Amino acid sequence: EELDIISFCLRLKEQIETTTTKHTIKFSLNTSEPILDNTYVIQFDPKIIRQILTNLLSNAIKYSPENSLINLSLNIKNDKFILKIKDAGIGIPEADQINLFASFYRASNVGSISGTGLGLAIVKKCVDLHKGDIELDSKVGKGTTITVSIPYSKSGE
Ligand code: ATP
Ligand code: MG
Repeated sequence: EELDIISFCLRLKEQIETTTTKHTIKFSLNTSEPILDNTYVIQFDPKIIRQILTNLLSNAIKYSPENSLINLSLNIKNDKFILKIKDAGIGIPEADQINLFASFYRASNVGSISGTGLGLAIVKKCVDLHKGDIELDSKVGKGTTITVSIPYSKSGE
């Protein structure tokens, strides 16, 4: 399907925001390239991008304290969309980080926060389907940043 990725992400972020009263999600768009009409109308499967964003944002909400800030940024660089979700939550112990994308895996510091351990496995599958990349940067007690980059081709290419 051909869609405008920027409005799509913004709309999705607004929908997710209405499901939480405990967090503010700040959206920012950074692009060094000029935003021309239709430049970011790309071929992508909205269901897959929705899966990625809802899983990552729901983790950010679930694993961070009430009223903390969540940053969602969309960066367009070198023919890639770079989605970054940053929270100031519990973080992920280094020893757990390597296993995090395996189904049913949960980190040792989740305590009583419930979950099945499937969200990130699904995200990884979706990112792979788009031939993208996923990166994790996390420190216990400080927070987590997850960066997903997905290559795109411009409309008509
Ligand atoms: P669900 O299947 O409902 O999403 P889940 O949130 O436990 O359950 P994943 O989303 O796959 O599962 O995440 C796997 C594990 O990674 C989590 O259990 C948690 O330990 C850790 N994790 C993921 N995101 C974060 C985050 N933003 N901050 C801290 N820990 C996280
Ligand atoms: Mg999850």
